[in-house]
Amino acid sequence: MIVDIERVVVVGAGLAGLRTIEELRARGYPGEITLIGAEERPPYDRPPLSKRVMTGELDDTSLRADFGALKVDFRAGERATGLEPGGALRTERGEYPFDRLVLATGAAPVTLPGTGRQRVLRSLDDALELRGLLRPGLKLVVAGAGWIGAELATAAAALGAAVTVLDAAATPLAAAVGTEVGARTAGWYAAAGVDLLLGHAVESVQPGGLALAGGGWLAADVVVTAVGVRPAVGWLAGSGIRLEAGVAADEGLRASVPGVYAVGDCASFVSGRYGRRLRFEHWDVALHAPEVAAANLLGGSETYDPVPYFWSQQFGRMLQYVGYHGAADQLIWRGDPADEGWAACWLAAGAMVALLTVDRPRDLLQGRRVIASASPVDVARLTDPGVPVKDAVVS
Ligand SMILES: Cc1cc2nc3c(=O)[nH]c(=O)nc-3n(C[C@H](O)[C@H](O)[C@H](O)COP(=O)(O)OP(=O)(O)OC[C@H]3O[C@@H](n4cnc5c(N)ncnc54)[C@H](O)[C@@H]3O)c2cc1C
Repeated sequence: MIVDIERVVVVGAGLAGLRTIEELRARGYPGEITLIGAEERPPYDRPPLSKRVMTGELDDTSLRADFGALKVDFRAGERATGLEPGGALRTERGEYPFDRLVLATGAAPVTLPGTGRQRVLRSLDDALELRGLLRPGLKLVVAGAGWIGAELATAAAALGAAVTVLDAAATPLAAAVGTEVGARTAGWYAAAGVDLLLGHAVESVQPGGLALAGGGWLAADVVVTAVGVRPAVGWLAGSGIRLEAGVAADEGLRASVPGVYAVGDCASFVSGRYGRRLRFEHWDVALHAPEVAAANLLGGSETYDPVPYFWSQQFGRMLQYVGYHGAADQLIWRGDPADEGWAACWLAAGAMVALLTVDRPRDLLQGRRVIASASPVDVARLTDPGVPVKDAVVS
């Protein structure tokens, strides 16, 4: 069904914004589309920025959007600043009336206190600038042993930089997968020649280095802050759109104001599967959520309730995470850290709810289906890396 609308405005020219437009056209929407993007560039992919762009294998991660064929009025280098009553988007340069509005403004890195130069790794420009600084012997300190910190450390160490990764938590990846699982990745740093300093919070970044909480100083030529991101929704304050962990959308990605939708890193949505409001910073969510937003914008009634998927390449390994372990009550190991690959499986009430695999892509593929089925699993079979994950399901 295509409702009677003529003007769609999409804010944010990242993957989620572009995919929304592609989906609208694929579903036969014939009207105007305006895309407002704060960056000067057309949409590009971010996952390679901390991987193949950083190692120098890739300079351009463009998503090759054909705005001519898609009949899109693309306004690059223009930032949205708010909403006008009555249905118009306000930007630095003007106003754009809309029948439907899609919010796809992504997320922005959190920074630390202090007057010293902090670099972040979010945009292609950030990545190209940082790459230009990497050289043998450069004292690089990465604040944050999360996904991006680990990937950046991998690339920088391979290029000969003297890398220290610092985190306030007791293990790497603590916020993402918990300390028990994160601890299994700690040894990878030393093996790659990277110093890992855990349990140390940064008090401030100063010229020449970092002041650590409780005293202590870490000298650095370059500091990269990789302590997480926040949804880029500050510009919506006072707009009447409800914000809760990002733009608060419902199970169909509708924001609280009729005619407004939210997708990608900036959107939190109500998940029936997990019984809570969730927001993900996953490429796969930015890829697929727009299918549902576009369908509903055109009058449909679809639900977005994925088994979320994320990957990371670090220290020569492929990590893949599927599901959500927020309500898990049991952690099962599959394989030993000394093995080539291993996996961590989270269960809740006897069913698998999340899975992290290290160099075990087949486990991941099967695990995704097992999680989606919500079937009970046999722990002894799941623990045995010789038994396919799908055969751990109790039938
Ligand atoms: C270095 C890096 C590595 C990553 N690696 C992985 C990975 O390995 N696996 C994985 O699953 N995910 C990864 N991700 C996450 C993934 O890239 C994001 O989930 C995805 O890019 C989200 O897409 P998005 O379109 O929602 O947001 P974004 O890509 O952030 O796009 C939003 C766009 O909106 C613009 N914008 C913001 N505010 C405004 C405004 N007020 N007006 C106009 N425009 C605005 C921004 O400038 C940006 O261009 C990585 C991210 C980064 C940064």
